[in-house]
Amino acid sequence: MGTKLFISGTWSMVQDVKKIAYAAGFTDEEIQTKEIGEKEDKVYCVKCYKFSKKTKSNNLTCEHCNRERKISCVNE
Ligand SMILES: [Zn+2]
Repeated sequence: MGTKLFISGTWSMVQDVKKIAYAAGFTDEEIQTKEIGEKEDKVYCVKCYKFSKKTKSNNLTCEHCNRERKISCVNE
């Protein structure tokens, strides 16, 4: 294609724009990214089967059911 794409923004924004870029025909070699801030990992709640955003806190409670988490980390 000969066009280079440079995406700079938060992790979630970069992922969103990347999806659009792939749909438009860009390849990995043509896309450069600079993610700003911490990566948002998702944590899975085994109580309510929903995903929450992982925070720095070790005492995270599920944002959906407010129970103490028993989670497994998920990286996309
Ligand atoms: Zn929950």
